[in-house]
Amino acid sequence: MKLNLKENEILHGFRLLKQQTVPEIDAKAYAFVHEKSGARLFFLENDDDNKVFSISFRTTPADDTGVAHIVEHSVLCGSRKYPLKEPFVELVKGSLNTFLNAMTFPDKTMYPVASRNDKDFQNLMDVYLDAVFYPSMKETPEIFQQEGWHYEIDNAEEPLRYSGVVYNEMKGALSSPDDVLENKIMLSLYPDTTYGFESGGDPDAIPTLTYEEFCAFHSRYYHPSNSYIYLYGAMDIEEKLAYLDREYLAAFDRIEPHSEIALQQPFREMARKEGFYSISEGEKESEKTFLALSWLVGKADDAEAMLALEILQHALLQTEAAPLKKALMDAKIGKDVSASFEDALRQPYMSIIVTGSEADRAEELCRLTEEAMHGLIKNGIDKTLLEASINRLEFKAREADFGTFPKGLVYNIKIMNSWLYDADPALYLYYEELFQKMREGLKGRYFEEVLEKYLLKNAHRSLVVLKPSRTLSSEREAALAEALEKKK
Ligand SMILES: [Zn+2]
Repeated sequence: MKLNLKENEILHGFRLLKQQTVPEIDAKAYAFVHEKSGARLFFLENDDDNKVFSISFRTTPADDTGVAHIVEHSVLCGSRKYPLKEPFVELVKGSLNTFLNAMTFPDKTMYPVASRNDKDFQNLMDVYLDAVFYPSMKETPEIFQQEGWHYEIDNAEEPLRYSGVVYNEMKGALSSPDDVLENKIMLSLYPDTTYGFESGGDPDAIPTLTYEEFCAFHSRYYHPSNSYIYLYGAMDIEEKLAYLDREYLAAFDRIEPHSEIALQQPFREMARKEGFYSISEGEKESEKTFLALSWLVGKADDAEAMLALEILQHALLQTEAAPLKKALMDAKIGKDVSASFEDALRQPYMSIIVTGSEADRAEELCRLTEEAMHGLIKNGIDKTLLEASINRLEFKAREADFGTFPKGLVYNIKIMNSWLYDADPALYLYYEELFQKMREGLKGRYFEEVLEKYLLKNAHRSLVVLKPSRTLSSEREAALAEALEKKK
């Protein structure tokens, strides 16, 4: 059944804000707001029977306790209608879902489900909505202890230990140098915003989180006024709107969650940061340092600049012939050079990462990169190289083959890249015009100008040196043991 609604008309408590067509994905897009609760809803209607529902919240932690991550785990441990201790596990076993998960990002928490079966889809929606709005964790401190952290001891003579699902998970995650590096890069570029904190939780900080703080985080952020509801595919949308209003949203009044993400003040000069990651006692420390040169590059709602940067990053750094990569590899700066572009942040960033290097080569990385960029801007970037990268990215966008990931979920993740920052949710779905602009840019000095503005002349950058340490993990264990002995 097709929606026949004019902008500003209200249906089941939802006001239609905007409707538009998105030829790129053969869809009609509807943006709604639920008047009473303030919930936002975006519906992408097309013929795809692999339907997707998700509810996301803008979660912006102000510390390293991993509270957003622990809440994500905990809401899935039973709710008002589904008191079963692990409805999530039961669901995975019994459902026909094509996707079911929950994810904590640096600034949001997402609960997506997908299914081709109508009844199953409706059922999954209900379990997730009940879980996020009415979780048992609010009355059951044991859930917090189990998912977050608790003390463990076998008998009075034994030493005290910390345990907990998220505590243990993060202990594992933060022993990988890639995760530690990403952490340090974000801390270096966004020292004054929510992005400077470890949203997953730092094992040293997790045990400082109290049950009261944990419940308060849920009350503040898991409210419809702070939610982003997404529906995708072939479905009876009117029935879904009626259900959402009747079963959940109508019970809530709007609040002001104050969850917006502050902008990081621009740097005047490059920030420097050093850190360590742990290697085993027998390993050698040479050729094991990571170097990362990163830039904060504009804002997420500037879709054109973001695409241009992605193309540049690919052309200059991703292939063996890529000139920037080649300049660094020729200088034997390390064993390998790679690049990353993180666009799911209000202020995205780009990094050049060198693995298998030495700390004393960090300055050389900066110098070589600047020299190579100067040369590229002066002499022009090879057009065939840029064109190949444009073709590749355009083909990927058109083909929209995401392996086992439902298409609707991938669009959901794209949409969040603008929606979460109060821009048009459909912004990143329109790519035709942008690729056309990129092709036109090939005729002039467009890419050289982007390179100059966002990278070469951009002072908001950081240099992170991550060194290996054979003693780090034993030192940490000793400090932890001492602290726990005092508690005991
Ligand atoms: Zn987790």
